[in-house]
Amino acid sequence: MKPFIYDFTLEQLQEWAKDNSEPAFRAGQIFDWIYVKRVNSFEDMTNLPKSLREKLEAQFQFVTLNEITRFESKDGTVKFLFGLQDDHSIETVIMKHSYGNSICVTTQVGCRVGCTFCASTLGGLKRSLTAGEIVAQVVQAQKILDATKERVSSIVIMGIGEPFENYDNTMNFLRIMIHEKGLNIGQRHITVSTSGIVPSMYKFAEENTQINLAISIHAPNDALRSKLMPVNRRFPFVDVMEACRYYIAKTGRRITFEYALIGGVNDRPEHAEELADVLKDMLCHVNLIPVNYVPERNYERTPRDDIFAFQRILERKKINATIRREQGHDIAAACGQLRAKHMESSSR
Ligand code: SF4
Repeated sequence: MKPFIYDFTLEQLQEWAKDNSEPAFRAGQIFDWIYVKRVNSFEDMTNLPKSLREKLEAQFQFVTLNEITRFESKDGTVKFLFGLQDDHSIETVIMKHSYGNSICVTTQVGCRVGCTFCASTLGGLKRSLTAGEIVAQVVQAQKILDATKERVSSIVIMGIGEPFENYDNTMNFLRIMIHEKGLNIGQRHITVSTSGIVPSMYKFAEENTQINLAISIHAPNDALRSKLMPVNRRFPFVDVMEACRYYIAKTGRRITFEYALIGGVNDRPEHAEELADVLKDMLCHVNLIPVNYVPERNYERTPRDDIFAFQRILERKKINATIRREQGHDIAAACGQLRAKHMESSSR
């Protein structure tokens, strides 16, 4: 199978141009055609010589995302189930905020991390996406927004999969997204979220970017975290915390801790107290997420008053905490739920 043109960073395309006896500036023109003019074929790149268009056609292909379903929420959230060339399916979400449009992208088909509150992991990991397949989700979303003259203003890598288990492709995706000749998304408007793949966290600390890092922590200690997130047995709580401290010291950047509140499991006042003690003096912020109901698991939602009580305990102990505004609740916008339903109905 030919590689996807979206797989390549500008620098990689410049290398390709050199290897193919083409001037380096052609790479910039190609980038402009695919990310600024957003064409779907090499034939449309009319300022490139025909011989170059033929070379591109012979060596690369565009990613096709087939829209299987689209669900639109009352709050403006649009969730897509896209089919890939090999018939796997992935989810992408456009979220409307007062400050712009945010896109939540998928990095893997399924996930092997096994978080017990997540539908994405139910069928295990099928494969990782290429950089281009991640890029294509944003390009597709941008094309949809083009119709109303809007733009993608931020990206969250929080869809299906563990981006730090698909590290190189995720990094290339990010390089393409932030490039000024491409979609030119501000680095501070991008967040990558990991379940705590420690070696990749150290690597990411060395990348010298302004991209935000979020850690799915979901428990204040090792024992409870291992119950909720089997990945904690591979990368224990204490090691994740040490990697976080290293990242903050190295980059001077604040970390966001994602904490999914599950009724009666990790949402008691004592959990909030313990979490606050663990995070004491760290440059961080806690994002509390009322967990979505996953029918396959027996988790209950935390009552509203308890969510606020949890937040108050953190804030009293000087830990900045917010409650994530739920979006697309009426269309199963939580990661993996659409895909899980689709897999179930196609296997019937
Ligand atoms: S929450 Fe993220 S890391 Fe955990 S199983 Fe789901 S997709 Fe994987």
